Amino acid sequence: MRLAVIGGGIAGLAAAWEGVQQGAEVVVLEAGDRFGGKVTTTHDDGWTVEQGPDSFVAYRPAALALIKELGLDDQVITLQGTRQVSLRVDGRLHPLPAGMGMVLPTKLGPFVTTGILTPWDKLRAGLDLLLPRQLGAEDVAIGAFLGRRLGRGIVRKFADPMLGGIYGASVDELSLDAVLPSLRESERTHRSLMLASLAQGRAAKAPAGAGSPFRSLAGGMGQLVDVLTEALRARGVDLRTQSPVRALERTDDTTTLHLDGGEVIAADAVILATGPAGAARLLSAPLPAAAAALAAIPLATTNVVTLAYSADAFAEPVTSHGWLEAGGAPVSGVTVSSAKWAGRAPAGDVLVRAFVPDTVGAMARASEDEVVAAVTAHVTQNLGATRPPTRTWITRWDSLMPKFTVGHVDRVRAAEAALAPTPWRVAGSALHGVGVPDCIADGRLQAQAALTQATVLHGVRR
Ligand SMILES: Cc1cc2nc3c(=O)[nH]c(=O)nc-3n(C[C@H](O)[C@H](O)[C@H](O)COP(=O)(O)OP(=O)(O)OC[C@H]3O[C@@H](n4cnc5c(N)ncnc54)[C@H](O)[C@@H]3O)c2cc1C
Repeated sequence: MRLAVIGGGIAGLAAAWEGVQQGAEVVVLEAGDRFGGKVTTTHDDGWTVEQGPDSFVAYRPAALALIKELGLDDQVITLQGTRQVSLRVDGRLHPLPAGMGMVLPTKLGPFVTTGILTPWDKLRAGLDLLLPRQLGAEDVAIGAFLGRRLGRGIVRKFADPMLGGIYGASVDELSLDAVLPSLRESERTHRSLMLASLAQGRAAKAPAGAGSPFRSLAGGMGQLVDVLTEALRARGVDLRTQSPVRALERTDDTTTLHLDGGEVIAADAVILATGPAGAARLLSAPLPAAAAALAAIPLATTNVVTLAYSADAFAEPVTSHGWLEAGGAPVSGVTVSSAKWAGRAPAGDVLVRAFVPDTVGAMARASEDEVVAAVTAHVTQNLGATRPPTRTWITRWDSLMPKFTVGHVDRVRAAEAALAPTPWRVAGSALHGVGVPDCIADGRLQAQAALTQATVLHGVRR
């Protein structure tokens, strides 16, 4: 079996790894001049700058499983110090209440006493205890659903900053069924979301002080890409950069991939790990129904701005891990990378990164100089630095982050139904999850599915 993987981001590389495990002959075709896609780590003069993800969650096991298979376990690192994350609401920083889940409290005490919500916000949230079930069969925006049950206070001050940063979209457009299907289940089983969340909090048997779920690698997330590509090469995988695929064609027996420059490659099974827009372009002629569903997935833009400060810009060592913004700022959140992870900055110095997504407004598409200037002013003031940063870096991910908006599950179903009879599968952040572990799990699953379908088709023809 010959498996062709289009796109050498983490999903494509994971698909290639799975292809090798299944005994396939694998080629990876990456348009850019490096592998990893959004997983990009730059080592610059003692600074480790993450241009995409800086970590992954351990409770989705696919990333740790792959790391173990690659023999990289001893490079896994956990957060340094005590996790201190704040929320800036209406100009004031507040600690996140203990036991706060993604959008709902799992403990009542800290929620009742937090200064983030006004007394009215808390009373309105309490109405959730009395309201009847609200959901019908159709998908809704998370913001609208939470607003109806708990009021806009929780939506604006918790749900939007917590989810918006991860999904690059406002909760007023994010799909309940694609992003937080557990809330639908909570309403079904408990009616009140608050009661369901508190019950989950009581049931969770996490030992006191159980660590944070976040993990990274000593050499940054790019270390995973470096080691994975090395392992793939060692197993005979044909890894090609600067090889954009322009078109796909399928005859009864085989798939033909047309590369820029006229080269053609034959394959039995194909993984499209290009992101939804790239996959839609490649599928528009051979599978228009899949292409239409993928093209309907909206794409967000975000900027990652990284700032390096020398230690003497601060009166005291910076130990906070950062903060999220509940609107009214040029950034959606700030991470103090040097406090969070070991080895990200020269000793004592401070490395900070901030996000400027579409959700903060026009600033996301301003010139890079303007974005860096706005972020520098905001972070320098709010972090209490007495001097400007000594270095800055910016990466813009322009219309590259799939948004799981209302109706996403239907788009996924339509794309997968059209692909099902073929030995072609879409993998990566487009359909089932945007996190690195999701992309790894999906890459592997889709490689298995594409190879299985290719085997079925060969069997039928024989
Ligand atoms: C700023 C930022 C921060 C993030 N933070 C985190 C985090 O902390 N933790 C976490 O778990 N996740 C995080 N994510 C999400 C996660 O990084 C991504 O969802 C994931 O890396 C996407 O991987 P992918 O392989 O699906 O796509 P991509 O990384 O986008 O890779 C797609 C690849 O396909 C190539 N390609 C496109 N078209 C073609 C073509 N026609 N022919 C050949 N190649 C093509 C592209 O060049 C690219 O290399 C973050 C994302 C961003 C942008």
